[in-house]
Amino acid sequence: MSVWLSSRVMQCMSSYALDLSPLENGGILLGWRSGEDVTIVDLRGPGPQALHARHCFIPDHSWQVAEINRAFEASGGDLDYLGDWHSHPDSVAEMSKLDSATLLRIARKVSAPLMLIVAGSGTDWSARCWKGHTARSFLRRRLVATPQKLTVFDPPARWPGPIIT
Ligand SMILES: [Zn+2]
Repeated sequence: MSVWLSSRVMQCMSSYALDLSPLENGGILLGWRSGEDVTIVDLRGPGPQALHARHCFIPDHSWQVAEINRAFEASGGDLDYLGDWHSHPDSVAEMSKLDSATLLRIARKVSAPLMLIVAGSGTDWSARCWKGHTARSFLRRRLVATPQKLTVFDPPARWPGPIIT
């Protein structure tokens, strides 16, 4: 599986991250799944009731659910929820224990969700992402988080997504 990340979404996440640095910021990822590939074309921020701390971010869940539904309807069912993103200001794009637990909790409700982390400072941010999925070993099934290949691409102007001004 490959994850394709729109450069417009990457730019938006970086500016959200910088806005609240050194506190964490985050939100949700929207886009398409096709076969094994996932294409991230849009995003939402934290929502009005989100909590931001130095090493923790708790999104405004009910706002996010409403935004997912709104995006789905506005796009005629084109844009799906793909997973969550959040920032690690002045740090590295690695999953904390809390991040893994959050991803596996989402994976119980949504098939193969992503957790994307942007890390950095100033104007220099980089992203990595993980997928939560079911792994089978013998007769056991368990949820695991595995790193995914992430490629940033420039989307065509007519594609949906954040408008960069
Ligand atoms: Zn984290």
